[in-house]
Amino acid sequence: MSTKRDYYEILGVSKNATPEEIKKAYRKVAIQFHPDKNPGNKEAEEKFKEAAEAYEVLSDNDKRAQYDRFGHQRPGAGGFRGQDMNMEDIFSQFGDIFGGGSPFDSFFGGGGGGRTRQRKGSNLRIKLKLSLEEIANGVEKKIKVNRLIRAEGVTFKNCTTCGGTGQVRKVVNTMLGQMVSTSSCPACNGAGQLIDKRPPGVDSSGLVSKEDVISVKIPAGVSDGMQLSMSGKGNEAPGGGVPGDLLILIEETEDKELKRNGNDLIYDLHISFIDAALGTTVEVPSIGGKARIKIEPGTQSGKILRLRGKGLKDINGYSSGDQLIYINVWTPKKLTAEEKTKLEGLRNSPNFQPHPDSSDKGFFDRMKEYFG
Ligand SMILES: [Zn+2]
Repeated sequence: MSTKRDYYEILGVSKNATPEEIKKAYRKVAIQFHPDKNPGNKEAEEKFKEAAEAYEVLSDNDKRAQYDRFGHQRPGAGGFRGQDMNMEDIFSQFGDIFGGGSPFDSFFGGGGGGRTRQRKGSNLRIKLKLSLEEIANGVEKKIKVNRLIRAEGVTFKNCTTCGGTGQVRKVVNTMLGQMVSTSSCPACNGAGQLIDKRPPGVDSSGLVSKEDVISVKIPAGVSDGMQLSMSGKGNEAPGGGVPGDLLILIEETEDKELKRNGNDLIYDLHISFIDAALGTTVEVPSIGGKARIKIEPGTQSGKILRLRGKGLKDINGYSSGDQLIYINVWTPKKLTAEEKTKLEGLRNSPNFQPHPDSSDKGFFDRMKEYFG
């Protein structure tokens, strides 16, 4: 800690420099020690990092005030951030130093990120159809995919455009005079090498399509349109780098009997007028088999029964939806002469005259109760 150089000294400004002066000074030092201008020069890289750290503190009013009072030993906070500042952090700082669209964009190869960013293979997208049962319980699927992988038997030669460095340089005029701009070589995409000979079926980036079987664990409670991502299971990157991701789009096969509403499952149950009046027990389809439910005597059409927790598990938590059973009382459409006679005998019976009381909720009250 004590060997650290003074931040003002690093940037070459006085203790009462204005924010504008600090910014200007940093710009100058950053350009001088930029890794693209000093390839392989460890000392320059250290100086570059040192300047970035100094700028990070001095460009922030609070941090600067603390630094002025306490120096490098900031109380309570374990000193200023320094060693943990990586190149990506530093490059991301450039956005506000140099601004978008400045001549420095090309100097830093578009913010510099491209230089340090690891090349990544492309993502692979597949659709996966799942039944309600699979969604309810979660499932492990073996999926066949055609992935691009790096082919065997490919020979490479140095790229002549960049001479194998992967970088091309050109001179640009900036407000600080002429500068050498470095950017990724367009001929080899920064790899420094081009394919010399490739076996049949291998594409121009040295990749070949190969069928692969990937095991995918689908958690319970996914829904139609949801996309899951498996890191590193996509296409491999040409010439090295990390593979892309496998993106799995969930398609839900509609169930014939159980309709989904969020995590609730809805079942339409039709019962006879006799069962509704006398009461009975019926079996209804449910996740993982059948559920037996009791129909109380005097059940009205439109009543909703709820099987608590018999719906789908929430994908983000431990809660579960319910299964709702909508009761529809079925009115016969055809009657025999004998049936007609029996029913006619009941037509004027007082118990058969509708007289809804407050417990027989209408449609709107039920909607409010269940979805309100
Ligand atoms: Zn090249």
